[in-house]
Amino acid sequence: MVMKTCTIRLKLPEDSKNAILVKNLYLSCDPYMRSRMRKSEENYVEPFTPGSPITGGGVARVLDSGHPNFKKGDLVWGRTGWEEYSVITKPESVFKIQNTDVPLSYYTGILGMPGMTAYVGFYEICSPKQGDYVFISAASGAVGQLVGQFAKLLGCYVVGSAGTKEKVDLLKNKFGFDEAFNYKEEKDLEAALKRYFPSGIDIYFENVGGKMLDAVLVNMRLNGRIAVCGMISQYNLEQPEGVHNLFCLITKRVHMEGFLVFDYYHLYPKFLEMILPRIKEGKITYVEDVVEGLESAPAALIGLFSGRNVGKQVVVVARE
Ligand code: NDP
Repeated sequence: MVMKTCTIRLKLPEDSKNAILVKNLYLSCDPYMRSRMRKSEENYVEPFTPGSPITGGGVARVLDSGHPNFKKGDLVWGRTGWEEYSVITKPESVFKIQNTDVPLSYYTGILGMPGMTAYVGFYEICSPKQGDYVFISAASGAVGQLVGQFAKLLGCYVVGSAGTKEKVDLLKNKFGFDEAFNYKEEKDLEAALKRYFPSGIDIYFENVGGKMLDAVLVNMRLNGRIAVCGMISQYNLEQPEGVHNLFCLITKRVHMEGFLVFDYYHLYPKFLEMILPRIKEGKITYVEDVVEGLESAPAALIGLFSGRNVGKQVVVVARE
């Protein structure tokens, strides 16, 4: 039998001005990727191209560079492909990693897009202050676990909801939430929230939408704030569920604001300045759900929509 060998060309083609060739190390599974599987005018990121590798967040090492800002050996995080090696033609979509004394996978989560989302959503949108009553849904996930810890550092009373007992325990015992509950075990979400917030919620960090949003609206306090980060309970539905209690926005003078993290990346240096020392001092902790191998990525992504992940969902493609 004649064996054919194939050599991988680890150099950019000559005419690749401004592009970089990277080896992908860690890939991020994120709920917004679901919306890229359908064409919709409401999408804020372009749909995937059938027949081409999925693109998404990741951490990678530069193998060759035609761009003046990057050189061989640099580590980067940002938009890459679900493949072993990628040619990134628009390196403006990646950031050079300067701090490598933390786990590199953190740049898919706490030090990457989800971390920035928690930071922006809480500090820029919620106008938080000490003593506020804060509720977070999907609270043990990539974004939620950080929002809760930020709120605790500020001196707020913090309650989270999650979908399993294991996650509820994490919220209370690892992330320091004051209370947590399993929303799947509650027949009446309105009553559950009333139990944890007898005098109402000042801040709701919205990750799930649907029935939870309806239940929160009637439990909001006067002049409360709702940061609309995501609505994962709606992403797989053909028709989004109706929200019935929006009138509460008027009666309770609630400020409800949607935001997209991509509009706030200019704050990334300020965010790093805040979060890096807190990670190193152990004041903020982060839980990841790590699966090995590119072949594990599709199931890991699908798992976000049934709550299979415990913490930030990361896929390891290669470790160095
Ligand atoms: P997570 O790590 O929290 O993973 C998703 C979690 O959502 C699951 O683990 C599951 O947890 C929960 N979930 C899944 N389906 C449902 C459902 N039907 N009802 C209630 N909960 C459900 O994801 P992220 O932290 O990365 O993202 C959280 C939210 O933030 C998402 O809505 C996402 O779209 C949004 N987002 C928005 C950004 C922005 O710029 N606005 C940027 C990044 C994220 P459980 O077991 O607890 O049910």
